[in-house]
Amino acid sequence: MQNSEPIWDLVDEHRKEFEALSDRVWGMPEIAYTEYASVAEHAAMLREQGFSVTENVAGIPTAVMGEAGEGGPIIAILGEYDALPGLSQEAGIAEPKPIPGTGHGHGCGHNLLGSAAMLAATAIKDWLEKTGKPGRVRYYGCPAEEGGAAKSFMAREGAFDGVDAAITWHPSAFTEVAKAQSLANTRMDFKFTGRSSHAAAAPHLGRSALDAVELMNVGVNYLREHVPDSSRIHYAMLDSGGIAPNVVQAKSAVRYAIRSRDLKGMLDLNERVKQVALGAAMMTGTTVDISIMSAVSNLLGNRPLEEAMQRNLERLGPVPFDAEDKAFATKIQATLSDEDIDNAYLRTGVPRREDTPLCDFIVSLDTHGEPMIGSTDVGDVSWLMPTVQAHAATIAIGTPGHSWQVTAQGKTPAAHKGMTHAAKMMAGTAIDLLEDADLLAAAKADHQARVGKTAYVCPIPADVQPPLQPRPKEAA
Ligand SMILES: [Zn+2]
Repeated sequence: MQNSEPIWDLVDEHRKEFEALSDRVWGMPEIAYTEYASVAEHAAMLREQGFSVTENVAGIPTAVMGEAGEGGPIIAILGEYDALPGLSQEAGIAEPKPIPGTGHGHGCGHNLLGSAAMLAATAIKDWLEKTGKPGRVRYYGCPAEEGGAAKSFMAREGAFDGVDAAITWHPSAFTEVAKAQSLANTRMDFKFTGRSSHAAAAPHLGRSALDAVELMNVGVNYLREHVPDSSRIHYAMLDSGGIAPNVVQAKSAVRYAIRSRDLKGMLDLNERVKQVALGAAMMTGTTVDISIMSAVSNLLGNRPLEEAMQRNLERLGPVPFDAEDKAFATKIQATLSDEDIDNAYLRTGVPRREDTPLCDFIVSLDTHGEPMIGSTDVGDVSWLMPTVQAHAATIAIGTPGHSWQVTAQGKTPAAHKGMTHAAKMMAGTAIDLLEDADLLAAAKADHQARVGKTAYVCPIPADVQPPLQPRPKEAA
């Protein structure tokens, strides 16, 4: 492996500090908009490394930004640090064993995500200082990726203004340049109001909000046949109106997630779902209050940046896992089904390899599997500027996303190697952009062609605020 370019040496110089940061954040799992301790760790590390720090970015107390450098283009490196509820788990063991406490855990590896992103930003800052070249680097600590769409709110508030290109990554089972595939997604609440009455003595006087929710769900289930294949619609009951069957339920509420391949498709589908809700209200003599809680745009790819990152990856080679890393990953794989492992390869498009518990190869840029299509708030950033994402292997192949196995692998030596690798992929790509004006111009032209004439409009309406959470007293 020719792992010796100056920018990668700068990453290696700092790796221990950032592995420790990642481990600390792993140990303080905080869910969407409650990341007060995690953001404090990130802000402190930014100051320690000499960044100028902006807190409370876009009015979000758990968002932070650090900037360094002068003049030139501005490269943003995006990090995250939110955890997931219900995924508490001891580190380094291959059996489910929650840690007593909140029940939260880093089941998506965002402890690694934020630390590697800031590690890359720090190496870029050092490189700018050493070379004296014009250019600026910004690290954005973005909270609430899991269901909170913080980057979309930050995008709407102009937090990314002035940035020329954005780079990020996600922990993964495979080492590759991420394929830009995600769905635009809206979370919308439907609150029905009717009239309660005695369900036996005076049912004719009641107007059931629960009936309205049920009819809405039935209506949407019929709508499914007539939407594009790539669309997804799912719902969860927020309020079923109470537990008494002898009361006509006067209030009931349901939350929908409405996903579509692109922004326009999502906005169209949102309207169709709203019409179904209005129909349900009409059928039941109730009223409905409809509000968007959050939304994210689909991801836009960027071929010049993806190719530049792939060139970095090819020079870098695979993550240098050793026999011990593989031995633990083999234990984790023993907790998975054969189907989990098959599925991981299918999603990535790489033929299955036996005796390969960890990804000890790199995936080529033109390998296309059947990616698992979810949604991410990186989508909104990708509509504003050329954006590219890396995947670096930090977990055993087949590990399901959002699982106790991800939490269990969040502090392993393999995870640390994967995060350093990701930092090198990101920092190397940023240096290419800072040194090569033609690359930046090509990335911008590609971006412009994808955005087309439709200027980006944040899918979250201007009057919707992020669901900020109060600072816990002990952390104040
Ligand atoms: Zn994630």
